[in-house]
Amino acid sequence: KEPTDINDLCDEYLRLSYHGLRAKDKTFKAEIKTDFDERIGKIKVVPQEIGRVLLNLFNNAFYAVNEKKQKLKSAFEPVVKVVTRMENEHVIIKVTDNGSGIPKKIIDRIFQPFFTTKPTGQGTGLGLSISYDIIKAHGGVIKVKTKEGEGSTFELELPLQNT
Ligand code: ADP
Ligand code: MG
Repeated sequence: KEPTDINDLCDEYLRLSYHGLRAKDKTFKAEIKTDFDERIGKIKVVPQEIGRVLLNLFNNAFYAVNEKKQKLKSAFEPVVKVVTRMENEHVIIKVTDNGSGIPKKIIDRIFQPFFTTKPTGQGTGLGLSISYDIIKAHGGVIKVKTKEGEGSTFELELPLQNT
């Protein structure tokens, strides 16, 4: 683990994710909103591992809004928002998209290895399962809130102590 600027890490992987998707699909556009808490100094994490978690959350979010855009066309404005917050004992990172949300009947399975709703070649179903393990190994928590038709928020909680 090394002292890592969480806001910089979010910013870096957000760009990587967005430009990666745009490279494959030039017509894709999303509004990106960020609200970073500047009080978060550096916190001790494995930057490559947390980066991998963030990349998957951002990829999933952009995928979700892109999929909805393709269905609704001009009637829909894709938005992905990333918020960081410093609390007493942990740092919070929230990733919100206004995609189609996650149906109730699959919500219990999204953290399972190889569970994916994406077409072959587009998803391995490993992203959230690996993320779960990485966050657990950091002493943190990963949670999801979603509303069908309206979007999803994934929340990471990383402890400041015992790291
Ligand atoms: P993959 O992205 O390869 O499918 P993940 O483990 O990252 O694997 O995600 C598993 C599944 O969870 C996805 O296939 C999708 O059904 C659902 N999911 C994850 N994030 C979102 C999101 N932001 N919006 C809607 N569904 C999501
Ligand atoms: Mg994924």
